[in-house]
Formats: sequence, structure tokens, C-alpha cells
Amino acid sequence: MKTKSVLLAAAVLCSVVSSIAVEKIVGGPKGGRLLDAEPQQAEFFVNADRKVEVSFYDAALKPVAPAAQVVSVSAEPKGGRTPIEMEKTTTGFVSKSALPAGEPYRVVVQVREKPEAKPKNFRIDFNLEQCGECKRAEYACICEGH
Ligand SMILES: [Zn+2]
Repeated sequence: MKTKSVLLAAAVLCSVVSSIAVEKIVGGPKGGRLLDAEPQQAEFFVNADRKVEVSFYDAALKPVAPAAQVVSVSAEPKGGRTPIEMEKTTTGFVSKSALPAGEPYRVVVQVREKPEAKPKNFRIDFNLEQCGECKRAEYACICEGH
């Protein structure tokens, strides 16, 4: 292929990719849901023990150690709002206890850039059923229009 047509093909590909990127939801590397937190993106992931893991990533989705962020999580099952205590680890935060039974329900993740910063709230419809299309858990589904 001539250089010119390669460049053209690359340019076309780039514009297609960037127009998709506007709408496409990016999934978290662990299989969880990415949250547009500051200063790094955070991933909300529920592990096999139903514990919440919150990990941080740079723009290229490489894991980064948490800086001064503070994360708090609360579950909102039918029985009432339950705060989930979070513990800081070397890679992020993990909950001390498992999420209560009875999903689907709402989980609210609050991320502060530092303890005195204004919190950013993320509301997640916590549902562990597998999505038939993307095969991820519904709470982390990356399909459009869900
Ligand atoms: Zn899906």
C-alpha cells in the first residue's frame, strides 16, 4: 500500500474510533464499572466475596496507587441505607464487609480527591446478573442504552 492511502485509512479509522468513543462505555479492567472520579478514574468492582473493591487508574487504565482520595460507599437495599466501611489498601480501597443481600438495589460511591474536598457521588444500580450481550455483570454492563 502507498503511504498516502495508509495515512488516509488511518485518518478514517481514527475518526471512526473517536466518534464511537464518545458514546461507548469503557469497562473497568477488573470487570467492574469505571467511575469518572478525580484525579484518577476509579473502578467499582464487587469481588467473589461480595466485597466492594475500588481501584484507581490513570488515563491509559494502568493501575495507580491511591493518593489522598477518600472513598465511602453505602448500599441502599429495601431494608434501608447501609454504610459500607471501606479500608485503604496499597491498590485502592476494599470493603470490610460484604454487600447486603437483596439486589438489585442502589449503591452510592462517594469519592473525594482529598479528605476536605467536595465529594463526587456515583449512583450504581447494583445487580449481579450477567448481561446477555457483554457477559459482564449488569452493574458493570458496557452495552449502549442500558
Ligand atoms: Zn451488557
